[in-house]
Amino acid sequence: TSFAHFTFDEQLMHQIRKSEYTQPTPIQCQGVPIALSGRDMIGIAKTGSGKTAAFIWPMLVHIIDQKELEPGEGPIAVIVCPTRELCQQIHAECKRFGKAYSLRSVAVYGGGSMWEQAKALQDGAEIVVCTPGRLIDHVKKKATSLQRVSYLVFDEADRMFDMGFEYQVRSIASHVRPDRQTLLFSATFRKKIERLARDILVDPIRVVQ
Ligand code: AMP
Repeated sequence: TSFAHFTFDEQLMHQIRKSEYTQPTPIQCQGVPIALSGRDMIGIAKTGSGKTAAFIWPMLVHIIDQKELEPGEGPIAVIVCPTRELCQQIHAECKRFGKAYSLRSVAVYGGGSMWEQAKALQDGAEIVVCTPGRLIDHVKKKATSLQRVSYLVFDEADRMFDMGFEYQVRSIASHVRPDRQTLLFSATFRKKIERLARDILVDPIRVVQ
């Protein structure tokens, strides 16, 4: 498979070319067409597999379509991950590729300034990358709303569970409209993750790195 098989438009292809990736990774080859089709997905993949781009590229396509259907405020895509470092990395990739369409991304994580993050959220962004507890804090304070969210990603779900975020993860899923598209990534597929997948995904396709 080459990048051309994904039939991305010229703006996104331009950003991918600039990144100097020569070919899609296995998780991208398998995952991108599934995510583009609108189906829910479970990706069993580790860091280094290229999983981030596998959910960011289809997310950008989704946002562009959705923005037209549903103009308004609040993020269209939310990416939930376990740590500040991962948040910053994913946010950087969202900005890099989101540039293709002038989309805005905001990163909100525990330990960062509540006030600065709230201000960034209120300035408006189509993409929010967050740690679970901090997103909930901002929603409670009405700094943002999940009303328009229709693309929801949980990255490194097993690590979020290990860190004690199961309740928060489930709470976020329950506050996003049920007709959303959900993608769940995890390095392992333990019983608890399987149960989560059963509860928050609809008829998912499973992809193993
Ligand atoms: P990830 O598994 O998403 O953390 O990505 C690991 C690293 O691989 C990141 O530095 C990406 O920029 C890079 N990467 C993602 N996709 C590709 C690709 N198709 N070819 C080469 N490197 C890639």
